[in-house]
Parts: sequence; structure tokens; C-alpha cells
Amino acid sequence: MTRTLTLTAAVWRTLRDAATRALPREIGGLLLGYFTELGPHVVEARVVPDPRATRIRYQRDAALAERILDSSIRADSTGLVGYLGEWHTHPLPIGPSTTDINASGRLAKVGGHDIALLVLATGSRGWIGHALNLDPAGNMETLRVHVEGTGNDG
Ligand SMILES: [Zn+2]
Repeated sequence: MTRTLTLTAAVWRTLRDAATRALPREIGGLLLGYFTELGPHVVEARVVPDPRATRIRYQRDAALAERILDSSIRADSTGLVGYLGEWHTHPLPIGPSTTDINASGRLAKVGGHDIALLVLATGSRGWIGHALNLDPAGNMETLRVHVEGTGNDG
């Protein structure tokens, strides 16, 4: 069974808006939420700005990402917000690159936990989500992307 990366409608809107505002550059950040047996469930996404981002490059600032993560988890009253992984955009119709996959694989290995990677790429009808799950053992799994309440895939 293919597992699914689920986003709330509000998170998907936030990501799409951030992606569009950043054009023609890439942008990205953190995915927050919780893992279920069906896959990662994203309830919050944060932007980690990269002033040096280009059309083909986004690099997250690790120290800044950690500060944003800490403040997000502290601000959470639901207990449902943990670190799930990373998102960034490709202002091109191209999903996760080898560089993206290797970077997420390293995060999974170093962190000792799964990492979800979501890439928003351009498509014929706007932004399209491409999602992967990387585990600490180096396994990669493609996830379906689902936006809650729309009946549509991202
Ligand atoms: Zn990328």
C-alpha cells in the first residue's frame, strides 16, 4: 500500500502562497505534525528564509531552522506538533532531485528517525506536491500527497 503525506487545507494554502510569493526563487522550510501508520500528517509548516536562494537552489539555515522548530514546538498546545521533515519549492516541473534525496537521507540518518520531504513543483494547474519518506537505514519511499477536505491530491 502506498502511504500518504497528508496536509491540512490551511497548510497547503500556506505553502502554495509562500511558493508563489517567492517566485522566481525557491523557498522552503519545516514540516511539523505527527507520523501515523498511513504516513506523515502535516498540521503546520514554517518558512525558513534563505536570502541566497535562487531559481534552482534553496538551502535551509540549520541554526535558524532549529530556532524556528523550538519556538513552534513550545507554542504548540495540542501536543501534536513534532518535527516531520522539510519542504521546498522547485519553480520548474521537476520533483525531488538527487541532491534533495541525499540531504534528507542524511537528516534521517543523523537524526535517527524518518524524514518527510515535500517538494512543491510547478504543474499545468499550479503547484503540485511530490513527497518522499527517508528512513535512517537509507530506505526511500514515495508518498502520495493528499490535502485534507479537498478530495484532491496536492
Ligand atoms: Zn530541490
